[in-house]
Amino acid sequence: MATYIFGHTTPDSDSIVGALSLSYLKNQLGEDTIATRQGDINPETAFILEKFDYTAPELKTKVAGEDVYLIDFSDLAQSPKDIKEANILGIVDHHKLGDITTSAPLECWIRPVGCSNTIVKQMFDYHEIEIPKALAGMMLCAILSDTVIFKSPTCTKEDTKACKELAEIAEIEDYKALGMEMFIVKSDVLSATPRELVLRDFKDFKMGDNTIGVGQLEVVDLSVFDTMKETLKAEMKNIKEEEGRHTVLLLLTDIMKEGSQLLVLSDETLKIENAFNVKLDENAEVWLNGVMSRKKQIIPFLEKQF
Ligand code: MG
Ligand code: MG
Ligand code: MG
Repeated sequence: MATYIFGHTTPDSDSIVGALSLSYLKNQLGEDTIATRQGDINPETAFILEKFDYTAPELKTKVAGEDVYLIDFSDLAQSPKDIKEANILGIVDHHKLGDITTSAPLECWIRPVGCSNTIVKQMFDYHEIEIPKALAGMMLCAILSDTVIFKSPTCTKEDTKACKELAEIAEIEDYKALGMEMFIVKSDVLSATPRELVLRDFKDFKMGDNTIGVGQLEVVDLSVFDTMKETLKAEMKNIKEEEGRHTVLLLLTDIMKEGSQLLVLSDETLKIENAFNVKLDENAEVWLNGVMSRKKQIIPFLEKQF
């Protein structure tokens, strides 16, 4: 029976490439694994897959009775609904420890680095397995994406070192230029619907009894949102009501200015203001200078309030 490997819901490049890279490694080690995904491929990931001539992992949203490895998450809220009926063999992740538990011992590679693929690279090194050229290129892109080309405060020396080594294997000289090319693809928000945009990189977090949804869009110039703020907010309202969420936040991150415009829709706006020690403007927005990471600069401060 094959083991399925997948990342979080609304998968990003790290979740998709991580499923592929971890699956390749596990198969080299003699396990029988299949990379899968929990949702649609976003435009950035489509760009990466096309560039390195890979096909996307198959869609799989039911895992009851299956053996699985998780990559890039350990939160129930980001899992398939029936995850409690699956047998979790291992977790590879770079987020805060979530609320998933297991009934048997498991393999855990959880490290505070900028990207799951940095950890997978270290696993390849540990097992002394060679990484194929195209796979190395994709892993490089995943790290450049998660660390926002090394600008994110989540980026560590281990991430830059992994990138250097992966770029050598992939024979890519100017990998920062490749990163920029990727973020320009990511900045094309005009061809998507407001709903697609809010949900493109959206995560739910359980805080006390509340569900807090936080979306993020990273672009090279925030002015692309000038004409669509109102439709984005209308969609945030729908998304908030659909699942009875307490709060829906949308981070519009400017990777050149290195900060984020935070759009807020909450039952308790004061808690959000207190979390970041700011006052929202009359449009329920605020500019957070230097804030680029949801994981490191948003979630921990919200958790303190809830
Ligand atoms: Mg991710
Ligand atoms: Mg990641
Ligand atoms: Mg990210």
